[in-house]
Amino acid sequence: MAEIELDHVSKKFADGTVAVEDFHVSIADGEFVILVGPSGCGKSTTLNMIAGLEDISGGELRIDGVRMNDKAPRDRDIAMVFQSYALYPHMTVRENIAFPLKLAKLDKKVIDEKVEHAAGLLDLTPYLDRKPGALSGGQRQRVAMGRAIVRSPKAFLMDEPLSNLDAKLRVQMRTSISRLQKNLGTTTVYVTHDQTEAMTLGDRIVLMRAGLIQQIGPPQELYDHPRNLFVAGFIGSPAMNLLPAEVTGDCLRTAIGDIPLRGRLRRAFEGRDPKEVPKEVIVGIRPEAFEDASLVHDREGGGSFTGTVDLLESMGPEKLAYFTLDTGGVRSRHLEDVATDEAGGGAQLVAQLDPKSQARRGQPLRLWFDCEAIHLFDPESGENLT
Ligand code: ATP
Repeated sequence: MAEIELDHVSKKFADGTVAVEDFHVSIADGEFVILVGPSGCGKSTTLNMIAGLEDISGGELRIDGVRMNDKAPRDRDIAMVFQSYALYPHMTVRENIAFPLKLAKLDKKVIDEKVEHAAGLLDLTPYLDRKPGALSGGQRQRVAMGRAIVRSPKAFLMDEPLSNLDAKLRVQMRTSISRLQKNLGTTTVYVTHDQTEAMTLGDRIVLMRAGLIQQIGPPQELYDHPRNLFVAGFIGSPAMNLLPAEVTGDCLRTAIGDIPLRGRLRRAFEGRDPKEVPKEVIVGIRPEAFEDASLVHDREGGGSFTGTVDLLESMGPEKLAYFTLDTGGVRSRHLEDVATDEAGGGAQLVAQLDPKSQARRGQPLRLWFDCEAIHLFDPESGENLT
């Protein structure tokens, strides 16, 4: 097992592309860390630098306190699982899993025991004598995992290992990977572009954008306290609603009405020079912070507005109601990246309602929202002010 430290690590490719900048994180022994972010943000490059498949341009990589920058991949005692599985088609499952142990020239009896054990952990025992061509996608993925765990490496690195599987299998495999990682207690770094995978799998998330870390923390922390608009828009599905607002003395003027500047919303501006209080902000409200007003009784500290439901999706335990609002007003370059808001046009809002809601498509609906659940963002820097 291992502690992995990336100490201000960067990667600049020969053509000048800076793929990773000042990546600084310390991964504890046994921790499960997820690298997540949109395509091209530098996730795979970071993982490849840990594995030794890419050179490190700046900073230091340490495993258990030992500098690894110049160590060959095979000397790092790390196992990697790829999206493509990278199995040998002419070998059986048993031979595929045994392969790293054969390379290490272990005794045949020991190899057999280790392979049987790994196959047992991954429910692969009935398939040991089949070749990969005769397995389902999920089974192939488990063989790739088997080959990684069989030699008890110091750490696992996984690059989008579930993206070739269908949605249902992905959910199943997510649970198995999570359970397996906890049972083995092996330090794991897992790359995905899927925020749901990131939210459900890891102890901590490292959210990246364009080579830079945006926020590091446990999934719930990123959800509850996104550091900026990008994190707010990336984490959570459906995404956080983002609305432009004008700051006018005691309230925020928005397309869903005036929101009084009280409590924590007021504190967001406290202690600032009045000249520095932004005239415009972006208001962020999670879909579940909206409720059907007819189901809310005697609740203080909230606001309400009426919108017309454009679309309704019944999801079983919840109902998603979509609204279009005429907004105008504040433009933010950050909004263009994260929201469905088309510059100057109407913003689409989504509310995650109780299934008891009588919301109907094409009908007006009064919605209630809790002012305590509101986030405020600076439209210039994107920073969360609350
Ligand atoms: P994806 O989710 O699409 O796999 P990613 O977040 O893993 O994306 P990387 O593959 O790490 O992103 O790529 C980061 C950036 O580095 C991208 O802009 C990519 O085009 C660039 N890049 C990757 N490999 C090279 C290379 N060999 N030479 C130059 N640029 C590269």
